[in-house]
Amino acid sequence: MAKKRATNKNDYDDYRLVARKNKEEYCGNLKTSNFMIKNTKVGTEKPFIIAGPCAIYTRGQIRESARFAKETGADMLRGGAYKPRTSPYSFQGLGLPALEYLAEASEITGLPFVTEVLDQGKVEEVGNYADMFQIGARNMQNFSLLRDVGQYAAEHDKAVLLKTGFLPTIKEVLCAAEYIAIEYHRLGRLPKVIICERGINEQYDGMRNTPRPDFLLELRKATYLPVIGDPSHSTGRREMVPKIGIRYLEAAANGLLIDIISDAQGPEINGIEVCDYEQGMRYSEFRNFMKELKK
Ligand code: PEP
Ligand code: MN
Repeated sequence: MAKKRATNKNDYDDYRLVARKNKEEYCGNLKTSNFMIKNTKVGTEKPFIIAGPCAIYTRGQIRESARFAKETGADMLRGGAYKPRTSPYSFQGLGLPALEYLAEASEITGLPFVTEVLDQGKVEEVGNYADMFQIGARNMQNFSLLRDVGQYAAEHDKAVLLKTGFLPTIKEVLCAAEYIAIEYHRLGRLPKVIICERGINEQYDGMRNTPRPDFLLELRKATYLPVIGDPSHSTGRREMVPKIGIRYLEAAANGLLIDIISDAQGPEINGIEVCDYEQGMRYSEFRNFMKELKK
């Protein structure tokens, strides 16, 4: 005879803090929570657009990028200071100087910024500067990192952008979000967590990854946290960014994360190869896309 389970567990019990079904306000609808990231609100009707370079190389580069993002109506700036690179020989990011450049560019433009934290030892350093921590796909299930980032973010009123892993289930994504939400909950705060669908690690149709707008919609149904799409990393091809970006928005995304590069930028900066050069939308393309979105 099968053993009786001790509790009457729901499938969403393991992510009880972030489950839509546990919040009356969000039951039976597709509303998401909304919250402030510094001076900017996420989770509103208007698509929340985060734009900036994949990685930061110079002070001038990120300043220019921030000014451009602001001018075209983006809500938030992105930029990599610490980069998770497949090859150990690739540029790994400038680290601390890039955080300083980001903070300066953010100050000039008034755009809050997100940047990735790769390991536990850097949570405080990144948190000293960033308005939102990015947990990358490769770290979605780095539970100690999730806890530390959650704790720091909750204590310092910062937000966390959790990117989906290489081939996760809905439950795995939401449990990862739950690790972070627990830390806000401990302090009696609501979780400032955004989930970002960035495609699965399977090359199809000439793309770097395979975007999953339908997965994004499933996430949105299962949690009240804002969910955004990353058409840059999920496709790896800038000509596909508008199409996939729109697909994400049609699948109920609250916003998009987009890599942008100056039209004048060559494949190297100071002799270093530009990270994700092909996938970054050129400024002119991004400007057109933002116009499309406003229609
Ligand atoms: C990024 O956004 O710069 C990045 C490295 O993304 P992912 O973790 O989704 O690969
Ligand atoms: Mn990138």
